[in-house]
Amino acid sequence: MNDPLLLVDLHMHTRCSDGVWELARLCTEARERSLDVFSISDHDSLDAYPMPADLDDRVIPGLEVDTHHANHTVHILAYGVSDKASPLLTTLAGQRSAREERMSAMIDAVRKRGVDVSMEDVRAQATGTVSLGRPHLARALVASGAVATVQEAFDHYLGDHCDTYVPLQRLTSVRAIELIRESNGVAVVAHPQRLYNDSDLSELIALGVDGVEVIHPTADAVAQQRLMDLARAHELLVTAGTDFHAPVEGRPIGVLFPAREIERLREAIASRAEQ
Ligand code: AMP
Ligand code: FE
Ligand code: FE
Ligand code: ZN
Repeated sequence: MNDPLLLVDLHMHTRCSDGVWELARLCTEARERSLDVFSISDHDSLDAYPMPADLDDRVIPGLEVDTHHANHTVHILAYGVSDKASPLLTTLAGQRSAREERMSAMIDAVRKRGVDVSMEDVRAQATGTVSLGRPHLARALVASGAVATVQEAFDHYLGDHCDTYVPLQRLTSVRAIELIRESNGVAVVAHPQRLYNDSDLSELIALGVDGVEVIHPTADAVAQQRLMDLARAHELLVTAGTDFHAPVEGRPIGVLFPAREIERLREAIASRAEQ
């Protein structure tokens, strides 16, 4: 059967969290690339919303919630959440101070290893956001010359395995899924390839997530098909995105994705809002 495709990107970050582009720059790119449907899904923030009115028809509001499951980080995309006074956003606002304290602790740890970096240096990399994260510190380490690349900063200082990494008290996945529902959103497991344990995805499905992100730079064709099959078996929604944080050579924003799947996502969001 003929299944029309759309150019979509349901997973992108701006300077409202840890992306390098301002919202306006990313909107320009979305217009130039003629994305049919997209979502700005900043970490733990709806600060990119409301979006410019000319893009209303193409935008699905959302955010990427940083959660904790079985001792590891799990990212859950929340689509259809647009109210900054919703239970989810109110809870997340309370977590920002925890991020500040954790950033101070990480800066102290990195300084103890002889690197001269300060909170001011980190804030200089985080203009436009109140939610400090490891990528901001990584960029500060690049700017200071301590490392050559952001990846090197994660490999040597900030990765989960590093002794200068300080974990963050995060929402549990269970609680996040509840809060997303209470906020009339649908919960989608972001980049399942990054889950720590093979059992995580089935556990998250059992907890009641509504969908899985099947297209993401971490998922090759085999992984995409496996995720698609799994989603079908569990009657879950599927989504697609590039997880844009900064321009990557040869990887423009937008991927081709069945229009039918976007329709299902929109319907699920609409029916949740009616509940
Ligand atoms: P945070 O929420 O402050 O712990 O930072 C998490 C962010 O750091 C993720 O969204 C990724 O963008 C980035 N990140 C985490 N681990 C790595 C890694 N090993 N390599 C590159 N980026 C990473
Ligand atoms: Fe990020
Ligand atoms: Fe993520
Ligand atoms: Zn992301």
